[in-house]
Amino acid sequence: MSRYVASMADRELPSDPELMALQDQLGQCRACPQMVAPPVYGLPVRSAVMMVGQAPGVHEQQTLRPFAWTAGRRLFNWFDSVGVPERAFRRSVYMTAVCRCFPGKKPRGGDRVPDKTEIANCRRWLDAEFSIVRPRLVIPVGRLAIESILGRMPLAQAVGRLLERDADGRTFDVLALPHPSGASTWTHTEPGKSLLVEALGLLEAHPDWQGIRTKAGGMA
Ligand code: SF4
Repeated sequence: MSRYVASMADRELPSDPELMALQDQLGQCRACPQMVAPPVYGLPVRSAVMMVGQAPGVHEQQTLRPFAWTAGRRLFNWFDSVGVPERAFRRSVYMTAVCRCFPGKKPRGGDRVPDKTEIANCRRWLDAEFSIVRPRLVIPVGRLAIESILGRMPLAQAVGRLLERDADGRTFDVLALPHPSGASTWTHTEPGKSLLVEALGLLEAHPDWQGIRTKAGGMA
């Protein structure tokens, strides 16, 4: 169990035993020699909604907390704007990622993008989480996550549309979001700016998001 999960569990977080067992195994994974361990993951909450990020940054790796830094603040502002504040989101939505370890820095700065082998290595954890959580709504955040859930497609075709995909013989909805990094210009220029507004509107109207929102009201 990560320090982050342990600290939240101390506060009587409802934790799912099957997910906790999976995360215990995940925490010990060292399959990728270039990745910086330990793996980072969210709280073990079984939820109708699953968010898939790309890979943790250095701050996430140090705190063992997904989306713990500036991009996370922007992302949680988006979710807050459609009714679910950060604390409630972390406790009500299953947070996962394409790769769970920090890929390290590129020689000229910026985070290294995980390679194909690392993405394939980590896929088994994502697949196992899908089998347990069985989400009805998946929110991939950023190009790598969108590609992992929807296949390769331009960001402008993925964001701002309600799409459907299958896993384990089940259909789930997909609402893609761009990466919230401040360095990205996509959300500040058209069509990205308008597509983000559309995506958040679709999220707000989705019945499973409304379920999370109702729960969030109970946590206030
Ligand atoms: S990135 Fe995923 S597969 Fe690779 S070592 Fe980390 S947890 Fe294991």
